[in-house]
Amino acid sequence: MSRKFALTGAVALAIALTPLAAGTATAAPASTQQEAAVTTVYYSTSGAPSFRSQINQGAANWNSSVTNVRLVERSSGASLRYVEGNDPRGSYAQTNGHGSGTIFIDYTQAQQYYPVRITAHETGHALGLPDHYSGPCSELMSGGGPGTSCRVAVPNSAERSRVNSLWANGFAANNAPEQRIYEDGTVLTF
Ligand SMILES: [Zn+2]
Repeated sequence: MSRKFALTGAVALAIALTPLAAGTATAAPASTQQEAAVTTVYYSTSGAPSFRSQINQGAANWNSSVTNVRLVERSSGASLRYVEGNDPRGSYAQTNGHGSGTIFIDYTQAQQYYPVRITAHETGHALGLPDHYSGPCSELMSGGGPGTSCRVAVPNSAERSRVNSLWANGFAANNAPEQRIYEDGTVLTF
């Protein structure tokens, strides 16, 4: 029994030392590596005062999930604008899928569904993600597909990876036309 404890102690010591060794080994190359630039997308909530806190929460959920793009609220000069109102087709994102456009929050839909899921989902369109209504509640872009009880308002790992990939080169190489993506499945291209 004492021999077994001794062995366990030796293994524990080896494990404890490993991170130190690994840290020392990676420290030198890390200092010469160029850090990937983070692209900032400025958004305005002035057209959607009722949902400002939900919009900001949705943006914060994205900011804590991805590394290549960051959403920052700004009252003027924003490329992404949130507005609110009534539309029989519900909420929509009219966007180039790369940080520009208008996101419309529908009052009726915001009473039926969890509003932060709506704002985070619509923001997902502005960051480049399409709808995927057949997905589970854990998938942000499944939107209203899983029903009104779904309160997940953060992107899943696949959605995070996709957005990081789409923003790896910042605003560069984006020639997409604006589309209006309604949450009833209608997509209009401009
Ligand atoms: Zn959608």
